[in-house]
Amino acid sequence: MIPFLSLKDVTALHGEEIQEAVAKVVAGGWYLQGEQNALFEKHYADYIGTEFCVGCANGLDALIWIFRAYIELGVMKRGDEVIVPANTYIATILAITENGLKPVLVEPRLDTLEIDDAKIEEAITDRTRAIAIVHLYGRNAYTEKIGELCRKYGLKLIEDNAQAHGCRVPDGRKTGSIGDAAGHSFYPGKNLGALGDGGAVTTNDPALAEAVRALANYGSQKKYVFKYTGRNSRLDEIQAAVLDVKLKYLEADNANRRAIAAYYYDNIQSPLVYLPERLPDAQNVYHLFPVFSPKRDALQAWLKNNGVGTLIHYPIPPHKQECYKEYAHYSLPITEKIAAEELSIPIGPCIKEEEAAEVVSIINGFRG
Ligand SMILES: *Cc1c(COP(=O)(O)O)cnc(C)c1O
Repeated sequence: MIPFLSLKDVTALHGEEIQEAVAKVVAGGWYLQGEQNALFEKHYADYIGTEFCVGCANGLDALIWIFRAYIELGVMKRGDEVIVPANTYIATILAITENGLKPVLVEPRLDTLEIDDAKIEEAITDRTRAIAIVHLYGRNAYTEKIGELCRKYGLKLIEDNAQAHGCRVPDGRKTGSIGDAAGHSFYPGKNLGALGDGGAVTTNDPALAEAVRALANYGSQKKYVFKYTGRNSRLDEIQAAVLDVKLKYLEADNANRRAIAAYYYDNIQSPLVYLPERLPDAQNVYHLFPVFSPKRDALQAWLKNNGVGTLIHYPIPPHKQECYKEYAHYSLPITEKIAAEELSIPIGPCIKEEEAAEVVSIINGFRG
């Protein structure tokens, strides 16, 4: 049996060090807003290449706080538009609508799976305030063209880096450092995952960092003094300590993902299965390894019957969800094709080449 992802094995990779770090926090008696947060924030900002990192409760909140902070700072207002890829995980879009902003859905490219930069300009109006790019599947989504459009129209560039810790854009900078602000998730299954929920915002903008930090702490900058109507959305000390341990091994973990991905790219050969464009290694941290098939459901059943776990990312696109009925009439054929044909096969920091070989031989034996 090859599971899609065994979190137990992922944690066991650095099990002792994680246990020690947790035990130290437990014994120390300080559980929120302490030195573990300060240390992790510093290390993660250094790793990503930004001046500031602000920890918060989860990745969705990180994105919510970025837009909310821009509203509080007078950069955006309710009713303004944000361009976003139509095929993202719903959290990116929830963060926009939660703030009374309007998501403008733009199709991805079928070969890259990322927002199609040739379709962005036609979506820009005089209400547009930002482009939110999502480094989906661990792939770099940034292009020079996107940067140019942001400069030309005076738009903020927001990155959803939930799936791409350690990924780089073509000029070598890390994703999460190239936009005006980035939201990161440390959900357990992400490349850098906590043992529970966690998230962070990275930015080089001191005013934004300060507003996000206040918003995630009841709207307060000073104890019992409230500047904004915020919420309690903090990263706890135990999670920060776990993340600080795991951050040291992120590059090695990503290297294993890349080795497995290379094996898949070199060996999957089936007339019924196609793969997305192969990026240079630096530009993909392979959070997921998506394969595509017009017979996707049969392929998933075939893999399951042969002991291989898979998941679909994502089976129903945001515009077809009940919560976004107002978008149901949109024609987004590429997004819908991805939802109908995508299948994510096992990849992660502990999967071995023998297991990848087994997955490949089962896929290559698929007859539809
Ligand atoms: C996981 C994820 C989020 C949300 O992160 P949580 O920590 O689960 O709230 C946002 N965007 C994308 C693309 C994600 O994959």
